[in-house]
Amino acid sequence: MMNSPPHRIAILGGGLTGLAAAHRLIELRGNRPLDIHLFEAGSRWGGLVGTIERDGYIIDTGGDSFITNKPGALQLCQRLGLADSLQATDTKHRGALVLYDGRPYPVPEGFQLLSPTAMGPILKSPILSTWGKLRMGWEYFIPPRKEQGDETLASFVRRRFGSEALDRLVQPLVGGIYTSDPEKLSLQATMPRFLEMEQKYGSLLRAMRRGKSATGDDTTSSGARYGLFAGLRGGMQELVETLVAKITPHVTMHLNTPINSIDRIENGNDYRLRFRAPCESLARDFDAVIVTLPALRSASVIGNLDPQLASALSSIEYASSTIVVTGHRLADIADPLNAFGLVIPHRERRRILAVSFSSRKFPNRAPAGRMLLRTFVGGAMQPELADLDDAATIQLVREELAATLGVRGEPDFAIVVRYPNAMPQFHLGHLDRVAEIERLTATHPGLAIAGNAYHGVGIPDAIQSGERAAARILTP
Ligand SMILES: Cc1cc2nc3c(=O)[nH]c(=O)nc-3n(C[C@H](O)[C@H](O)[C@H](O)COP(=O)(O)OP(=O)(O)OC[C@H]3O[C@@H](n4cnc5c(N)ncnc54)[C@H](O)[C@@H]3O)c2cc1C
Repeated sequence: MMNSPPHRIAILGGGLTGLAAAHRLIELRGNRPLDIHLFEAGSRWGGLVGTIERDGYIIDTGGDSFITNKPGALQLCQRLGLADSLQATDTKHRGALVLYDGRPYPVPEGFQLLSPTAMGPILKSPILSTWGKLRMGWEYFIPPRKEQGDETLASFVRRRFGSEALDRLVQPLVGGIYTSDPEKLSLQATMPRFLEMEQKYGSLLRAMRRGKSATGDDTTSSGARYGLFAGLRGGMQELVETLVAKITPHVTMHLNTPINSIDRIENGNDYRLRFRAPCESLARDFDAVIVTLPALRSASVIGNLDPQLASALSSIEYASSTIVVTGHRLADIADPLNAFGLVIPHRERRRILAVSFSSRKFPNRAPAGRMLLRTFVGGAMQPELADLDDAATIQLVREELAATLGVRGEPDFAIVVRYPNAMPQFHLGHLDRVAEIERLTATHPGLAIAGNAYHGVGIPDAIQSGERAAARILTP
């Protein structure tokens, strides 16, 4: 083990995890002199998160909001002085639509993040058959699973609520969050609260009758002012820019600097970073390294240092997706779009996963009389669609928007944003994989691995993971 806290610290990756790690090091360092370097392969900071402005539209090209009942993002925004920029989602249009037999219907109110808090609206919804509704209500009487160990989300929902609830509601809602196949997703890693409710109360409906929510009990506390989700008035780039401005005076910032590998210096405790072109001839030594790259990239960078750790990292699978952002005249859209978005069950056999009605969530995202839509294509269940070229992707999206929401006419613009291998998939056994990664990482003093591939895929998870890595590095 290292005896003294490190002095020269490298952070690999300038996405939100890396930026949050750098910021936390500065917050925690006290009087300690730290020489912090942040290395980013690309030409801009923010990684998967970014905002562009065009023709009066404010366009988040990646994530556009974050959950507020996890502390990571909300608290960081508050500490950065961004409280006034935090933007609650518009109360007028809260809720989601789900496609059923080719037409959009509201997800029954009370079907809160995949679990029913009130059966009344579900009984009235046309999305489920009478049998499907009875089967859901029967959940109350289904005993908890006896076997220990992980289970897929699909198996859990089918077992407790029946196949209709899975195929018509849960699968599309999960697809909208994880771009994943619920037949492969780990319940323990994605919805641990469901498991807890089943174990503790015997049934989810019983738990809900006692007022326990599937998202935790704290939705009325820290996040209440912003609803369950919040964005930033100027888009997520505001968070990136504020972080960069805060850390730049204290951190040496390296854009366009891809790291090739981390090695251990022979006869010493230091790590040596090696760089890929254009800085191939460079090598630098550090006491500590925080790696915040996507797990597959982390695996290749760590391959020399610890092949076993690299192999554990590369066992986390990723899915690709594409977002097509389009601006429309409201008059060109037949559907009233009275929601934040539309999710599409796989069984509907359409070629899009979900559509986010961005300017319904945040009205300032489009000029008056206009609508900003973000349509998701590909994901784990339709990987081949992420390979289409831009023109074919835009054509496909226009056809699908016309068929599902009655969108006609020429859009003001259409922008294709690609996310190859960007969404980590928390498959069955994920928590065991993460435990092994953490066990192996702990054998290397001064090494930390962070990001959204381990304990949660969202913006708050990435930020919290970066901040925890920073704290661990400073308290060896
Ligand atoms: C399409 C999409 C939509 C999303 N929507 C939401 C949402 O609405 N809400 C939400 O909460 N979350 C959302 N997420 C998830 C969220 O964006 C991520 O959790 C978060 O941005 C991850 O940040 P990160 O820093 O861990 O990873 P990244 O942003 O991937 O950052 C990693 C960085 O490492 C750099 N890098 C890679 N290799 C090297 C190398 N060898 N050397 C140096 N640098 C390297 C990359 O260029 C990148 O900048 C979405 C994700 C996607 C893909």
